[in-house]
Amino acid sequence: MADLSPSIRYLRDMIAIPSVNPMGRDDLPSEITGEQAMAEHVAHELSRLGMDAALVGRGGRTSVVAEATAQAGAQTLLIASHLDTVPVDGMVIDPFDPVIEGDHLLGRGSCDTKAGMAALLEALDRVLERGRLGRNIIIVGEADEELGSQGVADVLAHLGSRRPDWALATEPTELRLINAHKGVVHARICARGRACHSSNPSNGQNAIVLLARAILSIEQSAKVFARKPHPTLGAATLSIGIVSGGQAPNIVPDEAQIWVDRRTLPGEDPASVRAEIEASLAEAGVSAEVVVESCSEEKPPLETPVDSVATCATAGALESVGLSPACGHVAFGTDAGVFARAGIPGVVLGPGSIDVAHTSREFVPISEVEIMVRIFERLLEGEGPSAV
Ligand SMILES: [Zn+2]
Repeated sequence: MADLSPSIRYLRDMIAIPSVNPMGRDDLPSEITGEQAMAEHVAHELSRLGMDAALVGRGGRTSVVAEATAQAGAQTLLIASHLDTVPVDGMVIDPFDPVIEGDHLLGRGSCDTKAGMAALLEALDRVLERGRLGRNIIIVGEADEELGSQGVADVLAHLGSRRPDWALATEPTELRLINAHKGVVHARICARGRACHSSNPSNGQNAIVLLARAILSIEQSAKVFARKPHPTLGAATLSIGIVSGGQAPNIVPDEAQIWVDRRTLPGEDPASVRAEIEASLAEAGVSAEVVVESCSEEKPPLETPVDSVATCATAGALESVGLSPACGHVAFGTDAGVFARAGIPGVVLGPGSIDVAHTSREFVPISEVEIMVRIFERLLEGEGPSAV
């Protein structure tokens, strides 16, 4: 394996360190969950490159932040690559034993998104070694991207009032520049009735029946906003993913609930989604008994202008390695949206395909990781003269 490039060696080391996001489950072995070991490993690698790395977060949900300064007045670029992976149930390869087959490196997190951090480490090594850093940089390996983005919250708290000029989040985009995606809001909607013996249902109020009216009305509202698509991202969507309620066939239920997954467009947020659902409940005549219990943003939408510093700089770096500088969009949410919500405009770019992320045979093309190293080199060097 002596002929492997540094980025691929970094990547193999990281795949071998499990960093599974527990995703709210309690049935996963503690040896493979949490980002602590990955964060410590990345911090160690960054400090070997001469950067001071801080660990933030708690409860094993650890993120890493490291900074390097180019010169006064230089732009500050934040590059984020999440440390967590999805769980490994049903995988047909050993998730933590990186194997190379042709141009593919297999393993959990290979493309989503340890390859991003691996490429970044090699690029940092090269650029710092040459003394060619042209932008101030904040390197972030964040925890919990796959669920609640607690890692970004911890990183932003660590930065205090400081805000970098722009951000790049690595995710598997097949090296396409992404400047827009929808956001994700999850809402829990509860119906409250009055329980009684089912032999005399008129003595109670059936929460499931109340909820059924609410469901039909919410579905109807989804059809309305589906007719107003965003020019790039298409229509917002709504899906009712979980329904639960009742205790026994012979009890009129006093409680029932649904979970709604709402894919949001730029301009929408949890408050607007909540207002929309509450309007549906009022329309159905059940707003007294059916309430929006929680409505939270899992990932905000992203819409960074095509002429922004973030898109232009990234497009230039792509062009310099012979790739298309065109902006595109993806269907999934990313932490770039979370940074954007905090006032840091950003883009998404990385090796590998979302089609194999989260799958039983996740892999990343080695050739794409190696191209990503060169893209990062250009981004780290900034606008200065290119390296020889
Ligand atoms: Zn990811």
